[in-house]
Amino acid sequence: MLDLLANFTPFSDQNQSPRNMYQCQMGKQTMGTPVHSFPYRADNKLYKIHTGQAPIVHSKLFKNFLMDEYPNGSNAILAVISYTGYDMEDSVIINRASFERGFGHGSVYKTINIDLKDIMSDETVERYQFANHRPPSKRKQGEEPNKLLYNNLSNDGFPYVGSWVQSGDPIYCIIDSLTGNDKVGRHKEKEAACIQAVKLFGSRNNNDVVEKASITLRFNRNPVIGDKFSSRHGQKGVVSMFWPQEDMPFTESGIYPDIIINPHAFPSRMTIGMLVESMAAKAGALLGTFQDGTPFQFHESGSQLAIDYFGEQLQAAGYSYYGSEPIYSGSSGCLMEADLYIGVVYYQRLRHMVLDKFQSRSLGPLNAITRQPVKGRKRGGGIRLGEMERDSLLSHGISFCLRDRLLHCSDAFLAHICIRCGDLVSTTTEPITSVTEGKETPLRTFCRNPKCKESQYINENQDSPSIEPIILPYIYWYLTNELQAMHISLTLKF
Ligand SMILES: [Zn+2]
Repeated sequence: MLDLLANFTPFSDQNQSPRNMYQCQMGKQTMGTPVHSFPYRADNKLYKIHTGQAPIVHSKLFKNFLMDEYPNGSNAILAVISYTGYDMEDSVIINRASFERGFGHGSVYKTINIDLKDIMSDETVERYQFANHRPPSKRKQGEEPNKLLYNNLSNDGFPYVGSWVQSGDPIYCIIDSLTGNDKVGRHKEKEAACIQAVKLFGSRNNNDVVEKASITLRFNRNPVIGDKFSSRHGQKGVVSMFWPQEDMPFTESGIYPDIIINPHAFPSRMTIGMLVESMAAKAGALLGTFQDGTPFQFHESGSQLAIDYFGEQLQAAGYSYYGSEPIYSGSSGCLMEADLYIGVVYYQRLRHMVLDKFQSRSLGPLNAITRQPVKGRKRGGGIRLGEMERDSLLSHGISFCLRDRLLHCSDAFLAHICIRCGDLVSTTTEPITSVTEGKETPLRTFCRNPKCKESQYINENQDSPSIEPIILPYIYWYLTNELQAMHISLTLKF
């Protein structure tokens, strides 16, 4: 309760306590204003929101720590309505016009460090330098002096500040002054990035040779469907739709909400503090003042309740005492006949973004041993269809789907089996001996298991009739082979 992080939540004394704890977790995941010294910093990763605002409702501690200078959200007009169905299950509808005005816009800054010593295994770093042209002595015949090797890089081997790089574009160039060869570093990420800053560091020997450099890249991260937003009361949700403003509900004075959330977010979670914040900020916005949301300022048995205190302010400004308002449907224009709650709530943009998390694959890399798809988003892997998923497919009786997932989309393999002895390992392929002409020798398959009486049926010029092709998971075939190596024979019966 005494902590700064806990004091981000206004009226936290009116919330159910787990919600305050959730907010303490989420307060650390906001895309906010981490520092004001962006030009001087070279952090691996920094998140920044571009349209931060000071919250209308804040606590005393919030003020003492000068958090106004470090906004981590914006004051959003919030309507609590079940509207269109796109606000089910904690998803939030965002007003498209608000988004276009800058609501929730932000960026990610990533800095890459380049050290000649790391890149070049050679000890004599002096040989290498950042440049975008060959040294005069190594110029090829007819090559113009100072001809740029890479068009998007400047003469010094670095990209222009403010330019954009796409995936695979060169972002730095190193020249070997001895051989004239160049080594180029490329933009590895799939997302386009803007060159925010290029910094050069001198060498330790105090000469002018640049040995190290850092490049700060800026990635545009304006909200997209699937990004996460949260109020300061543990009420998080995912953007489901940017709804056109003309179809959003509006009040009598013509105010459209920035965000719509579902009323079902409240009964079970009991975040009364959020409702009080909504009223308080609404009154604050109308009266042009900041509001004090420090917990334990109002008490149930006290002389004045928070509801009455802010209710009177709202009434004085000509609004409904309890913060509800008549709202008109955006699509029909008719009055919505319900007591609808609309106010101002400070909303935080959280830094979990779909762009970092989505995973998709049709064909892709396989594990060399098992021939099953590799795991991991970075490597373009698949998502595991685990035992529980398998169970649910089984219980639905959709065996073709199961076979598709577990065999054809995984490690389907065409093996040959001897139906006489049931052996998978002894089937083999060899060239047909009697045919010698032609470029490609025809092949035949047969069983070479000595226990199989196959040998007496062998016709050296054709496939053995007891060999059948069979589609198996490769890992099964692999297991039979491994077991065979330990003198355990695994056979199939027909
Ligand atoms: Zn056999």
